[in-house]
Amino acid sequence: STRGGAVNCTRLRRACLKAGKLSVTPGTRNFSLLPGNNGEPKQKLVILGSGWGGYEVLRGVDRKRWDVTIISPSTYFNFTPLLASCAVGTLEYRCAIESVRRFTPEAKAYQAWCDHIDFQNKTLTCMPATPPLSFEKAPAPPLDATTTAFPGTGTTFEVKYDKLVIAVGAYSQTFGIPGVKEHAYFLKDVKDARAIRTRLLECLEQASQPFLTDEQRRKLLHFCVVGGGPTGVEFSAELHDLLTTDIRKHYPDLEPLCSITLYDVAPGILGMFDRNLMQYAENTFKREGIEMRTSHHVEKVEKNKLFVKEQGEVPFGLLVWSTGLAPNPLLLSIDSVQKHDRSGSLLTDNNCNVLLKKDGGKGTEDATDPDVYAIGDAAIIKGYSLPATAQVANQKAKYIAKKLNRLVRNKDGTEPFEFNNMGSLAYIGNWKALYDRSKAQTGPKTVKTGTLAWLLWRSAYFTKTLSVRNKVLVPTYWFLNWLLGRDLSRF
Ligand code: FAD
Repeated sequence: STRGGAVNCTRLRRACLKAGKLSVTPGTRNFSLLPGNNGEPKQKLVILGSGWGGYEVLRGVDRKRWDVTIISPSTYFNFTPLLASCAVGTLEYRCAIESVRRFTPEAKAYQAWCDHIDFQNKTLTCMPATPPLSFEKAPAPPLDATTTAFPGTGTTFEVKYDKLVIAVGAYSQTFGIPGVKEHAYFLKDVKDARAIRTRLLECLEQASQPFLTDEQRRKLLHFCVVGGGPTGVEFSAELHDLLTTDIRKHYPDLEPLCSITLYDVAPGILGMFDRNLMQYAENTFKREGIEMRTSHHVEKVEKNKLFVKEQGEVPFGLLVWSTGLAPNPLLLSIDSVQKHDRSGSLLTDNNCNVLLKKDGGKGTEDATDPDVYAIGDAAIIKGYSLPATAQVANQKAKYIAKKLNRLVRNKDGTEPFEFNNMGSLAYIGNWKALYDRSKAQTGPKTVKTGTLAWLLWRSAYFTKTLSVRNKVLVPTYWFLNWLLGRDLSRF
């Protein structure tokens, strides 16, 4: 029984509160019906992508007041900073993911690609990312990653939105170098980490066969990493740890034949870090025996062979490629929105609303779509240069969730986004890391190296781990693998 939106019966009020159909104004005895419970339909919020951006919006948004749907080809969130550890077995795969199903049925989730956005009719066209059902036609053959039609079941479906958050991230950049897509491994998803670990163990088992010469073994056990940014450096560091601990112990004849080479076109590695930290990382890598080939240009990749301009043909057993970001094909299909010239990311204003293309280049003022937000690696705030990192994606997502929660309560949500740089971390192997707070806005502007930075690195990522399950799993695996070694079984 309600009168003027207020629920009068105490027992009913309690029951409604329990069922999540009422809200209470803090500090008062005022109860009001949530949207969707007094006849007025809830507004539809659709989130594209379940990464650092999308997953955080899903976590933070008031799912009782919004009708939330998340659409992503992954049914989980990748905790990307832990992927390099998963690729060598320091952590198990499930430590680095969180399921979107934690939030269903409160929110709907579809494992699908969004293939097209109709901004005028506020409609998305999506294609399932699940295997085809028996009554459906055969899936389309896999297409090149730069086209917008994704491999799926062929049965598309449409989803309407009132508010849309585009957080589809970016793809791996290959600069069109022939053979990279076919013969290199990327490290963007837990599936990539699993594929790398499988190939690594395959190389070791192949090299263990009795009929090989040492020269053949050396080629198989040459591990190449292209890209001297944080991902390439952290993977090389984790690989070095694996080689000098478990491989040394369990493959003592092979360990001296193993080598790691890190390539980059730039004259140094970790270009975004403070100069002293870059130098520290290079010196550490030299001491650890990781060969750095900076100012080197990879021109072509063939099966188990790199072609380097300055070096010629280089055989390898495993090649990991991490040379930056390429635009998500969904963004390439969008025409009505302004994009960043170089990266192809969607341009937004400082409220994270996408900027519409100017009418035939005429108007001078930028117009935005107030119902569409873009965050994470897929978006750039016009005139505000921020790095494509989890930190930026996550802070923008928190900002959007807060804004949406204010909007649904009819409160003002127009404060602009401001990035709070908390510093950067990178693991460089052998219990050492880098911690760069030289560009931090708040707190001391310091840099740290060595074991202290490594402790900060581990505690930061432990703190950032989201679910209770992973708060238990991550330190457990760190401890178990330190005590008993990594599992080297090959499936
Ligand atoms: P992502 O996290 O990439 O998520 C994109 C989501 O969109 C995915 O779920 C994807 O499946 C989905 N998607 C893609 N296409 C579609 C589509 N058509 N329709 C619907 N969904 C789609 N940053 C840091 O700050 N610190 C670190 O230590 C750090 N370490 C990293 C380590 C590695 C190995 C990698 C790869 C990156 C690292 N980064 C780090 C960078 C950070 O992970 C990215 O900046 C961040 O993931 C960007 O978040 P996002 O939500 O924009 O995209």
